[in-house]
Amino acid sequence: MGLTIGVDIGGTKIAAGVVDEEGSILATCKVPTPQTPEGVIDAIAEAVRTVSAGYDIEAVGIGAAGYVDDKRATVLFAPNINWRHEALKDKVEQRISLPVVVENDANAAAWGEYKFGAGKGHEDVICITIGTGLGGGVIIGNKLRRGRFGVAGEFGHIRVVPDGLLCGCGSQGCWEQYASGRALVRYAHQRAYATPENAEILLSLGDGTIDGIQGRHISAAARRGDPVAIDSFRELARWAGAGLADLASLFDPSAFIVGGGVSDEGDLVLDPIRKSFRRWLVGGQWRPHAQVLAARLGGEAGLVGAADLARQG
Ligand SMILES: [Zn+2]
Repeated sequence: MGLTIGVDIGGTKIAAGVVDEEGSILATCKVPTPQTPEGVIDAIAEAVRTVSAGYDIEAVGIGAAGYVDDKRATVLFAPNINWRHEALKDKVEQRISLPVVVENDANAAAWGEYKFGAGKGHEDVICITIGTGLGGGVIIGNKLRRGRFGVAGEFGHIRVVPDGLLCGCGSQGCWEQYASGRALVRYAHQRAYATPENAEILLSLGDGTIDGIQGRHISAAARRGDPVAIDSFRELARWAGAGLADLASLFDPSAFIVGGGVSDEGDLVLDPIRKSFRRWLVGGQWRPHAQVLAARLGGEAGLVGAADLARQG
């Protein structure tokens, strides 16, 4: 099989890219994400038609946030777009006359990293994507594991704190309430209120108020040595690493790959994640340790992964 298209549906933009068998992106097209479910489908079709001009395309893979069924056709439930049992594959196929597969976006990103990024050479890889929330993907024995109903790897909603913080999913104490971009902002706000004298750089980057502190300010301040920003990343890393130790008990992979915006911080966040992972790994002194690696494909992992999964048919 030759060229396929990967589609990444983001909150503000839909990106489509022509991808070859080596995982290289040959062309891309971005369109704004419409507000209505039907509008999103039209926009996907438009982006695919635009980017495919001049290429011989064999299939399209769409990475969608939410629960995708085991047929890789229907989005059962999407938290951010109002999709409930949305027949995404059929609707897009009707518009573009190419075979379409739908994948969970975190699964697509995991596959991209496994095949072309940090996971190259590993057979058993667990990926977590720390963005606004926390997503995951499972590759065991060189296969993406979707589970019987297609919805495996939703690590963000594992309950890590009984009766803990309320989550958007309706549960309490979910992992993504403690290890996500949103949690990072909460940690920074709490620490800046408690010790504003340690948050001077952080406060100088926003609008001067503690409530005005956003994720990008915390990243910039941490790089400049702001104690509150650095400690906020460490707190996130403690929760992330402890969760990886639990996932090692479940899956025993040779590598964990940490992606999403947080991984852009590199060792600032990866080192404390590794430390926490070692701290909580059961029997850690007596067993081999999985590597904890930073993702390599950045924001393109999902697009490249979805395209490659479409190629697999
Ligand atoms: Zn939850």
